[in-house]
Amino acid sequence: MSPGLHRALRTERKLMEYSKWDLDSLPIQCVWHKGRRVPLLKTLFSTICKNQCRYCALRKDRNVERLSWTPEKLVNTTLKLWRKGLITGLFLSSGMFSDPEVVVEKQVEVAYVLRRRGFTGYINLRLMPGTPKWLVWEAVKVADRVGVNVEAPDPSFFYEIAPDKGSFRHDILGVLEHASRAWKFMGKRKVLKAGIATQMIVGLAETDRDCILTTFRLIRNLDVTRVYYSPFQPIKNTPLENRSPCPISRAQRLYQAFFLLRDYFFSLKDLESLLDSKGMLPVTDNIKEAYAKLNPHLYPIDVNTASYRELLKIPTVGPRGALKIMQVRKERKLRAEDLKVLLGKKNFKRAVRYIAF
Ligand code: SF4
Repeated sequence: MSPGLHRALRTERKLMEYSKWDLDSLPIQCVWHKGRRVPLLKTLFSTICKNQCRYCALRKDRNVERLSWTPEKLVNTTLKLWRKGLITGLFLSSGMFSDPEVVVEKQVEVAYVLRRRGFTGYINLRLMPGTPKWLVWEAVKVADRVGVNVEAPDPSFFYEIAPDKGSFRHDILGVLEHASRAWKFMGKRKVLKAGIATQMIVGLAETDRDCILTTFRLIRNLDVTRVYYSPFQPIKNTPLENRSPCPISRAQRLYQAFFLLRDYFFSLKDLESLLDSKGMLPVTDNIKEAYAKLNPHLYPIDVNTASYRELLKIPTVGPRGALKIMQVRKERKLRAEDLKVLLGKKNFKRAVRYIAF
């Protein structure tokens, strides 16, 4: 970043401090999308918030510096970074500095002005609970991804940790419902190319069963394409400061469960079969392998005759690997040597006990 831009952003950098920074001189977060590293300007429109979420660094009563962008400055900064090739997109959320309509109008205004000024990069708008329907539709028209955080897997946990964030049913699920309807109405191929996203905090009192069940409903009923699991980290001077942090490995297991539901045709029943008496997933680095060990009657799977869905049940075989297997076996009978090449030696070694030829 040029020294001029760096100086100009001295104040606004604080608006981004709740993102992880990949480089200490750039307020840019890199996310991974389909195996690619995507640099985004991830920021809040404002750190002013009238709510009192019990886990949050920005809750009203906490003493932090409160700042806001102006739409113009945020647009100019985004365009400058994008034109220099330093970012490919903008992720924009906000504290609740006013009612949801006012806050989201600012977010949508930024997105519209960016588009008008030729910005073709990625825009992700994290909307506010209670965003009115008309504004959700505007956001769907202009952004690549929209969403609102569910924060917790069910209403009772939600009200406990976010007591003034509105109604779980109407203000959170309702916004996701409007987004899903708008997306279907405008055409899934034409708008929201990156779909609908949400986030829940894990590691407070909920079980993996709670998270998986809610995730399943969000995917099936509300077209949510991405659920993020944020492992709880206690923050000083918040009501939850003495709670233990959630290990990242728990969130990683939930991510695996999410992808098995979304991309691997695992049913809710398949995942529930893995839960222990406390409703938790096994402590393992590979949930699919745990499933295979628990269901030996389903294995080995014959790679020369199995359907796409069956192939996806083989540990280390993903959607791309399954498609490659189906392509190659059209030409010839697959042998171990072919699979070593298709999956890579390391993956083949892990998969071989679940495969027949
Ligand atoms: S509404 Fe958002 S910013 Fe405000 S306290 Fe709750 S989580 Fe934090």
